[in-house]
Amino acid sequence: MTRLAYEKPTILRHNAALANKFGRAPGVRALERIDGVKVLDLVAQFGSPLFVYSEHRLRRAYREAYRAFSQRYPKVQFAWSYKTLYLDAICRIFHQEGAWAEVVSEYEYQMARALGIADAHILFNGPYKPEKDLEVALLGGARVHIDHYEELYAAERIARKAGRKIGVTLRISLDAGIHPRWDRFGFNLENGEALDAARRIHSGGHLTLQGLHCHIGTYIADPSAYGRMAAKLAALALQVRRETGMLVESLDCGGGFASRATLHAQYTPGVDATPPVDDYAEAISRAILEAGFAPSELPTLFLETGRALVDEAGFLLTRVVGNKRLADGTRAVIVDAGVNVLFTSFWYRHDVLPAEDRGGMLEDTVVYGPLCMNIDVVRPSVQLPPLEAGDTLVVRPVGAYNVTQSMQFIRLRPAVILLGEKGEIDVIRRAEELADLKGPEFLPKRLTS
Ligand SMILES: *Cc1c(COP(=O)(O)O)cnc(C)c1O
Repeated sequence: MTRLAYEKPTILRHNAALANKFGRAPGVRALERIDGVKVLDLVAQFGSPLFVYSEHRLRRAYREAYRAFSQRYPKVQFAWSYKTLYLDAICRIFHQEGAWAEVVSEYEYQMARALGIADAHILFNGPYKPEKDLEVALLGGARVHIDHYEELYAAERIARKAGRKIGVTLRISLDAGIHPRWDRFGFNLENGEALDAARRIHSGGHLTLQGLHCHIGTYIADPSAYGRMAAKLAALALQVRRETGMLVESLDCGGGFASRATLHAQYTPGVDATPPVDDYAEAISRAILEAGFAPSELPTLFLETGRALVDEAGFLLTRVVGNKRLADGTRAVIVDAGVNVLFTSFWYRHDVLPAEDRGGMLEDTVVYGPLCMNIDVVRPSVQLPPLEAGDTLVVRPVGAYNVTQSMQFIRLRPAVILLGEKGEIDVIRRAEELADLKGPEFLPKRLTS
């Protein structure tokens, strides 16, 4: 018989039977399967850490959002926000569902074109579009959202050179009653710049004003802010119509709907606190329908929802590599996925759940990543049962932004797999190798020895 290793005793408050104010026991349940597939099998086959996406959840979220808007408003078009997650397989799923592409850089633009998206179905946002890329997009017929005057003048030069009028959309910043106000993007409404830009488009004679766009921020949990924004955009469109005769064909209310993640600063869990997509749809649709458009001139409503469509479809599987007690007695575990691939951990209080239920007493635990830096904390405190090296944890929701914002700081980036709706399991991005990191480098001859 082997002797058990000695562990210094610790005294813990027993809280297993207490319900919190939502009536749940404070326990953790294991998350053993994702879409019916065993988490432990995935890690055994594809290694750890591992990003896992559920095609079923992606399609379900999209259909729910589209239904919420199209039931309330007659002309709705979604455009998938590439920067939220631009893996080809994921973009393709949203395009199959009917979404256009919303891009914010020339390389995202090229990704959408490479996936076969027509220029006319690409919305091109962002504060910097190099003039040659702006030219390709404008001449190709993309819907370009102009951010500032220099870009407006560049668009005029391009249209003049082409000898034809080109339609553009103006990005507008406005006060929707939320803070921080994202007034660094677009032309400001309240100080009159937005109307001036529309007048300039009219008097310049080279462009037409095709649409108005506003993106008020991200993780905005207040649907009424969208109602105020849509009402202001609609009023501006009507004013432009009256003053210049230009018909604004589209209003784009951007992205930013909250996902069901829980923020560090939030008391109520996101699953209980986040408004349903119907509330956003109701606020926006009502504001536009009541704005006073002639029925034949009702604008098309564009939405660029990113986070809310993809967050809960993504999971990060990670293995425990070590246990320790900190100086103050706090229990800590070290896992093999860190903040270099989990950017949202600075902001989200992710669920961290064991992948199998092996019992044992729960204890507040700090979950550290594998990076050699103090800020590499996946969760500062979470109730977990005893864990051993090799045990697997599931972190969720991680679907939005983590893959696109990840970096190879100390550790390379993990593989991403997609679980299909008929049990398919596909690698949609392989784990990185050293050559992926070192490929672009050159060692000058004088430093070769
Ligand atoms: C990032 C971004 C989006 C998507 O925002 P989410 O918060 O992910 O929904 C939409 N439109 C623009 C212009 C953006 O910059």
